[in-house]
Amino acid sequence: MLNVRRCLYSLRSLEPFYRSQSTNAYSSKWVSSSLQQDLDKFISSNPLPVSICLIGDPHLRRSNELVLNLRDGFVQATKFRLHRALAEFRRKNGFGRGISACQIGVNLRMIALNLGYGPLTLINPNIVWSSSDMITMWDDCMSIPRLLVKKQRSKSISIVYTDDNGHKQEWNELDVSISELLQHEMDHLDGILNIDKPFKDNNNENENIINMDEYERKKNYFNQQVDYTIVPTV
Ligand SMILES: [Zn+2]
Repeated sequence: MLNVRRCLYSLRSLEPFYRSQSTNAYSSKWVSSSLQQDLDKFISSNPLPVSICLIGDPHLRRSNELVLNLRDGFVQATKFRLHRALAEFRRKNGFGRGISACQIGVNLRMIALNLGYGPLTLINPNIVWSSSDMITMWDDCMSIPRLLVKKQRSKSISIVYTDDNGHKQEWNELDVSISELLQHEMDHLDGILNIDKPFKDNNNENENIINMDEYERKKNYFNQQVDYTIVPTV
C-alpha cells in the first residue's frame, strides 16, 4: 500500500529538482531532454526490468492519489520506473506511446509519454475541455494484450498538468492522436479500462471487442468501421 504521507507537501514550495529543460528545435512541448539523461542514468544503475500489470491486477482498479511532492524519492523512482517500462514495451513491440503509474503497480496520478521524441511526464493531469466532436477508434492497452476495443472518444481535448520541474503546464485543443491517447491514460488514473465501455455500434454490435490477430487478418474491414486509426510512433 502506498504511504501517502510521504507526499504531503505543497507543490507551491517545490524547487526544481531537475536541470532546467533545454529547449528542442523540433518540439520542446513533446519531450524533456533533461529527463532522458536522468532516465539513462537510472537504467544503467538499475538493471532489473519493470513488469506491467495485466488485467485482473487490483492496482488497475484502485483510486490513484495526487502527487504532492515531486522530490519524494519514491515518486522519483516511480517516474523513472514508469519511463523504463514504456521504453521496454516500445522496444519489444514497436509501438506504445503512454503508460500510467497504476500499470506498474503504483497508484499515483502520473503518466509517462513518448510521442516519438523522447520521454515526457504528466503529473496530476486533468482534462479541462473536451470537444463535442467525437471519433470512433480501435483502442489497445498494454495491460490487456492482443485485444482491441472499439471506443468513442472526444476528437480534441485541453489538459493541465504539472511537469518534471513542478511547473503548471497546459495543452490546448490537442490533435486527435494525442487527445485519444490522453483520454485512455486519464481513464487509467480513474481505474477505468478500455473494455469497461465499448462503443455500441448498431451496425456491428458483435464486433466491438476483437482479438488483435483477427484485426490483422481483416484490417481494412475493421478500419472501415471507425473514424480514426492509431499511427504507431516507433
Ligand atoms: Zn492502457
